[in-house]
Amino acid sequence: MPENTRILIAGGGVGGLTLAQALRHAGLDVVVYEQDPTPRIRNQGYRIHIDPAGNAALADCLPPDVMAVLRRTSGRNGDLVTTFTTGLQLIHKQHFPGTPAGRLTAVDRDTFRRGLLTGLDDVVRFGHTVSGYQVTDSGRVRVRFAEGGSDEGSLLVGADGAGSAVRRQLLPEAVPHDFGLRCLYGRMPLTGLLSPEEFERGLCWVSGGSTCGAAFGTVRFRTPVEGTPDYLMVTLVATPDRLGVTDERLFRMSSEELWKLSSDTVADWHPVIRDVYARADIASFLPITFRIADRIPAWAPGPVTVLGDAIHTMPPTGGAGANTALADAATLAKEILSAARGGRTPVEAVAAYQAIMLPRGFAAVDNSRRMAAQMFAAP
Ligand SMILES: Cc1cc2nc3c(=O)[nH]c(=O)nc-3n(C[C@H](O)[C@H](O)[C@H](O)COP(=O)(O)OP(=O)(O)OC[C@H]3O[C@@H](n4cnc5c(N)ncnc54)[C@H](O)[C@@H]3O)c2cc1C
Repeated sequence: MPENTRILIAGGGVGGLTLAQALRHAGLDVVVYEQDPTPRIRNQGYRIHIDPAGNAALADCLPPDVMAVLRRTSGRNGDLVTTFTTGLQLIHKQHFPGTPAGRLTAVDRDTFRRGLLTGLDDVVRFGHTVSGYQVTDSGRVRVRFAEGGSDEGSLLVGADGAGSAVRRQLLPEAVPHDFGLRCLYGRMPLTGLLSPEEFERGLCWVSGGSTCGAAFGTVRFRTPVEGTPDYLMVTLVATPDRLGVTDERLFRMSSEELWKLSSDTVADWHPVIRDVYARADIASFLPITFRIADRIPAWAPGPVTVLGDAIHTMPPTGGAGANTALADAATLAKEILSAARGGRTPVEAVAAYQAIMLPRGFAAVDNSRRMAAQMFAAP
């Protein structure tokens, strides 16, 4: 690669920071532009399950000290995925024995992100919202910020999530659409052990039929994380009709109103579930729309590319959005570094990356759609 190779990454989330870690560790000039004003974002603290593919991608990308931080601040291992009726009768149980020690499992999103930021103080620029870009006559990319100003590099990677500004310009037709489900997300601080014990041992899905269900999963940190107590993720997932409120209303609701709507929706479910809502942290509740991307044909590689949710947005029903973003980061880092060593251009690296990323990403999207169909099958 040419001497003045400089990689610009839009978005300091799961995929963008992992890519930045790998490139930085290999000595490349890399900068991340992140719209959030600070590393700490309130109320985005959902639990993310890191699967074997995500673990492998992290091991490929991260220096040992960063990997150690993530291991230390991961949740403890679970070994079950279970499905219950709303009366808490067990319908299905899948056992995943023996997660190797040291592997990450259920992580807290905010804590995970702060771990990924380790050592990147001079790489990540907070408070920079990427609003667009321009490819220059010399084939470089100039990225613009909504706050004013711009920067130039040899490659721009849109790692800016489902609403990606980079994708909007690169692939205007590739807009993820509404998957028809809303998620009311909250947390319950953990004090004692939960009952039934399956709630302690992995992810539990409580099936309310074809229009509604709830997912629960613990995050019990391996070592205490300051300011973030252990918690139970509490999510109600339902169609707008089942919730009985318009999006306009839902997305204006206060945390307390969202908590109340969730509690009312499970009012005739098993007392254990009602009790979880009664003990939940009311201020933690927030609404999320599940979106999904349509398959798009391969496009000509250039000095701008995309990774993760920016290109293959999927509902979390397959537990794969973050893991696929991590795999994208690992593949792209490998191709950029191999091009750098072999004297190839960034665009050649992008071509090799996109040939792997697109089929893999959309296979994960398809799987998340299939999983949603199973989860919302009528009992
Ligand atoms: C309730 C829920 C549960 C989930 N559980 C799982 C799970 O168990 N396993 C799993 O694999 N996935 C899970 N996911 C999905 C996972 O969170 C996403 O797929 C993953 O975060 C995508 O990573 P990313 O790097 O592509 O985008 P993100 O992590 O969303 O990062 C994008 C970043 O870009 C920034 N940004 C956005 N626009 C701009 C801009 N214009 N300029 C600069 N910065 C910008 C954002 O602030 C953000 O920091 C879950 C999602 C939800 C909603």
